[in-house]
Amino acid sequence: MALVRQNGIDLRAGNKHAARQILVTGGAGFLGSHLCDLLLQQGHSVISLDNYFTGSARNLEEASENPQFRAIEHDITDPIPEDLPRFDEIYNLACPASPVHYQMDPLKTALTSAGGVWNVMARARRDNARVFHASTSEVYGDPTVHPQPEGYHGNVNPIGPRACYDEGKRFAETILSDFTRSTGLPVRIARIFNTYGPRMHPEDGRVVSNFIVQALLGRDLTIYGSGRQTRSFCFMDDLIAGFDALMHAPGATAEPVNLGNPHEITVLELAEMVLDMVGGRSRILRLPLPVDDPQRRRPDISRARSVLGWQPRVPLAEGLAATIRYFDRRLSQEDQRARKPLGAEATSPFAAVI
Ligand code: NAD
Ligand code: UDP
Repeated sequence: MALVRQNGIDLRAGNKHAARQILVTGGAGFLGSHLCDLLLQQGHSVISLDNYFTGSARNLEEASENPQFRAIEHDITDPIPEDLPRFDEIYNLACPASPVHYQMDPLKTALTSAGGVWNVMARARRDNARVFHASTSEVYGDPTVHPQPEGYHGNVNPIGPRACYDEGKRFAETILSDFTRSTGLPVRIARIFNTYGPRMHPEDGRVVSNFIVQALLGRDLTIYGSGRQTRSFCFMDDLIAGFDALMHAPGATAEPVNLGNPHEITVLELAEMVLDMVGGRSRILRLPLPVDDPQRRRPDISRARSVLGWQPRVPLAEGLAATIRYFDRRLSQEDQRARKPLGAEATSPFAAVI
């Protein structure tokens, strides 16, 4: 029987329309590669542009088997190449998302966020393309309103180490909003909250991948600060379904829409869950809290529910189990010798093992 549902999405829905030519920037990344797979399954032609800073060809193995797919190495701070076909739709995902990576070269991150979206919009204007932009819950900074609705304007430190990303993404929203007001181009802005799942890089640096990889390797789990800070974690299948809904829901507009899972837990609770699920003898290692680390985060998804008819379906335990299976497979495929002995990091000067 033909595959008609995947990621909770009816693949036939995409085929109601003629096959489209679609550009995905950041297509080799964690989310971008899953999006490419979905668009190809829906029968579209897809081109990925990626500079492979955090993405990898490995993420595109499935997509690359499809003759309707092309992966091109390109940095979106440069104009989109002229010689590519006309695009019906552009999904702009290119930008490092992990704090570790976006702070590695903060000026580049700011340029990717703002200059990248400028180049995307210039191309969209030429092609008369519909644009989807991956914005972030970081536009709310360390929020003083909880949970965060789209109408909240945020609490961002404009000169701190996270600002290259937070302010870059805020400015991108400004550029998108002004472009759509002045040109009428259809624009969709997703404010994505912490999302996890298969294809995250083992050294991505974000909390879910860190904890799972640490537990699988028998290392101690690194908790930054007290561990009482909260996040709300969304499984990637749910999020990609949200992208599809936002891009095509008849009622959607250029107003940003929060996409995330409102199930909020502390970082310490997450560590305990991962330890329970993976087993082993890892302990908890306390490290300093990074500057400007948001203390509470939970999306108010009323707008996504009412305008898109979307809400996440995958419970945290189920999504974590799938992500643990993925990392377990991936780590065993990679160098087994890289596995360090138990408690190898407890010698850190910051360590206070509890
Ligand atoms: P990721 O780091 O896995 O993917 C980002 C991709 O963009 C990578 O393939 C990277 O090589 C590419 N890239 C970076 N800079 C580029 C440039 N200048 N030119 C071309 N390509 C470039 O991260 P992800 O989690 O897949 O995030 C994808 C998008 O979603 C990002 O824009 C991110 O800000 C946004 N987002 C993600 C989350 C999340 O929890 N995953 C949350 C909020 C927002
Ligand atoms: N964090 C942690 N240990 C880690 C990585 C992250 O305690 O190994 C914390 C981090 O300080 C933050 C939360 O987990 O409070 C989420 O961090 P992540 O980098 O995943 O995403 P953020 O929401 O900060 O962008």
